[in-house]
Amino acid sequence: MAEKSFKAETQKLLDLMINSIYTNREIFLRELISNASDAIDKLKFKSLTEPDLLKECGEPEIRITPDKELKTLTISDNGIGMTYNDVVENIGTIAHSGSKEFFEKMAAEKGEGEKNAAEFIGQFGVGFYSAFMVADRVKIRTRAAGAKVSEGVVWESKGDGVYTIDKASVEKCGTEITLYLKDDAVKEMMLLDRYELEELVSKYSDFIRYPIKMTVENEIPEEKDADGKVTKEKETVLEDKTLNSMKPLWKREKSDVKEDEYKEFYRHTFHSYDEPLDVIQAKGEGQVEYTALLFIPSETPFNFYSSQFERGLALYCKQIFIMEKCKDLIPEYLGFVKGVVDSPDFSLNISREILQHSSQLKIISKNLEKKILASLKYMLENDREKYMKFWKEFGRAMKAGVYSDFGAHKEKLQDLLLFESSKCDGMTTLGEYVKRMPEGQMEIYYAAGKDKESIAGIPQMEAVAEKGYEVLYFTDKIDEFASTMLVSYQEKPLKNIAAEDLNLDTDEEKKAKEEKRKEKEEESKSLLETIKKYLGSEVSEVRLSSRLKNSAVCLVSGAGLSLNMEQVLSEATMSSMPSPKAQRILEINPDHKIFEKLTEIYNADPESPKLKDMAEVLYDQALLIEGITPKNPVKFANQISALLSEISL
Ligand code: ADP
Repeated sequence: MAEKSFKAETQKLLDLMINSIYTNREIFLRELISNASDAIDKLKFKSLTEPDLLKECGEPEIRITPDKELKTLTISDNGIGMTYNDVVENIGTIAHSGSKEFFEKMAAEKGEGEKNAAEFIGQFGVGFYSAFMVADRVKIRTRAAGAKVSEGVVWESKGDGVYTIDKASVEKCGTEITLYLKDDAVKEMMLLDRYELEELVSKYSDFIRYPIKMTVENEIPEEKDADGKVTKEKETVLEDKTLNSMKPLWKREKSDVKEDEYKEFYRHTFHSYDEPLDVIQAKGEGQVEYTALLFIPSETPFNFYSSQFERGLALYCKQIFIMEKCKDLIPEYLGFVKGVVDSPDFSLNISREILQHSSQLKIISKNLEKKILASLKYMLENDREKYMKFWKEFGRAMKAGVYSDFGAHKEKLQDLLLFESSKCDGMTTLGEYVKRMPEGQMEIYYAAGKDKESIAGIPQMEAVAEKGYEVLYFTDKIDEFASTMLVSYQEKPLKNIAAEDLNLDTDEEKKAKEEKRKEKEEESKSLLETIKKYLGSEVSEVRLSSRLKNSAVCLVSGAGLSLNMEQVLSEATMSSMPSPKAQRILEINPDHKIFEKLTEIYNADPESPKLKDMAEVLYDQALLIEGITPKNPVKFANQISALLSEISL
C-alpha cells in the first residue's frame, strides 16, 4: 500500500470542504451522481468501438446504498471506472484549472462566497471533493472497464493531507464511493434515511439518463380470506426502486417540466451556476429530425469575450452523448447560448471532420438561429425588463453579429438592437426611434462617444437638438462598426452627427444658410487659409460651420472612417503599426466671439504670431471635445496659460 500526499492546492480545497461549508451541503449527492453518470457516458462512448465492454459491465445503473449500522453511504456505478494512474491523477491532484478559478471566485465573493460555495463546486469541476462536506472518511473502489479483476484500485483518505492507494481485486467494473458520514450528516441531514435520499435524487438528479437505484424495504400487507381470517402474514420484502424518472428533459413537453428541473439540468449539464434567463425548446421534423433544449444564460460566461471561450451545443444521437461542444450547431454570434441537440440522423461514431461538413448540422443551426431570434423578439415585445437584462449581458454579442460575416445577419438582427438616446431614459429600438421621428426628419442620427453625458455635451449636438431631432448614443465601441454594416433602417440612412454633410435643413433653409456661410467664408478666406497653414497636415480643411450654436469649434470627419472609429482602431492595433486615420475638418463658429477676435487680429496684422497660437489651441480644444488627447499636452497647457495671462481687468 502506498501513502501519498495531496497536492497543496487539493488539500486547501479539502480543508475548505471539511471546515467551511455549512449550507447546501446536500449537493454532494448530485455531484457524485453526476460523476457516475459521466462515467457511464464514457463507457457507452468507448463501447461504440469496443462493444464487449458493455457486455462486461452490464446494464448501466447508478446505485445508492445507505448502511445504518456502519453509518456509510455508498454511491456506485458500472461506468468506465479508473486505473491506478487515473485515480492518482484525477483524485489526488486537481489537474483541472477549475480549482484555481474556484478559489478566485471564493476570494472575490468573500463572506458571500462561503454561503454560495456549494453552488460553485459543480461549476469548477471539483465535485468529487464535495464528499468531504458530509464525510470524514472517503473510500473508492474502482476498476477500469476492460482491465483484469486483479487490476482494481482502492483509495482512501480522511482529507487530512494524505491518502492511501493500493491495487486490489475488484469484481465488477466501475466505481464505488463509500462515505463514512459525519455525525451531523446522519442526524441532522438524515442522509441514511430512505425518504430523504429519494427526495434528494428527485430534486437534483431526476433527469439523469441512467436509473439511480436503491434497495428499499417494502411492506406487503397481510392477506385475509372472506371470513377475515389472515391467510398470509404481512411481510417486509427488499426491492429495487428506481428513484429518477430518467426521461431526458428535452424529450418532455415544456408544460410538464418544472422550472426547478430546468435549472438543475442547466447546472448539471453546463456546469453553470447562474440561472437560465430563458429556456427555448425546438423540434424539427422535415429534412432533419431533432429535438433541442436551449438556454439563454442570465450572466455572461466569465471568459465569453476571450479567445478561450468555446461555444457550441451538446450533441446527442438517440439520447447517447456524442460531443460536448459542437460549434457548427449555432452561429458564432449566438455563442452564448447553451443547449442540447438530440438527433437520430447522425451516426454515433461519426468523425469530427465529417460532422463539420454535414449539411444536417447546417440545417439545424439555421433553424435554431431562427428559433432563438424569434424567442428574443418575443421577449423584447412582451417582457422588456427581461430583455434589458439579456441586452446588458449579450447586447454586445448581438451587435458583433450585425458586423460579422460582412453584414449577412443584419436584416435578422436590426429589430433586436437597443441604443441609448437623447430622448428616452432607458433604451430604444430603431423601430421606436423611427416612430418618434418628427415630420421632415429623413435620417436616423447618432453620435459616438464614451458615455451618455459626454455625447450629450458635444458641439455637434446643438444644431440637431435645436431641430428637435433625437440622437442615438453609441457608447459601445462596436456600435459604430455595426452601424456601418446596417447603413440604413426602414430606408432611413443612419447618420453620424459629427460627419461632414449633416442634412438637417430643408432645401430652402439649406440654400439660405449656405449662401450666408459662403459669403462669410469668402470674406474670411485668407484667414481660414492662414489657420490651415498653421495646422498643416493635421487637418484636411478649415471652414466656417453652420451647425454650431454656442461652441467655438468642432471637428468633423469626412466621408469614411469617423474620429471615434479611428480611436477604436488605434487602441486595437499594435502601436508599431500605423492605424488608419479619419479625415479631420476643423469647423469654426462664425457667430462666436473667438471668430471675431481672430478676424480682428488678422486684419490688424496677418502675420501676427498670436494667430498660430490661437489656431493650435482651438484645434487641440476640438480634439479634447472628441475625447482625443492633443499631440503635445504640455505645449497646449503653456499656450492656454500664456493666453490667460493676457486677460486684462
Ligand atoms: P469533474 O467531474 O468536474 O471533472 P471531479 O472532482 O468531480 O471533477 O472528478 C474528478 C475526476 O475524477 C473526473 O473528471 C473523473 O475523471 C474522475 N471520476 C470521478 N468520479 C468518477 C466515477 N464515478 N467514475 C470514473 N471516474 C470518476
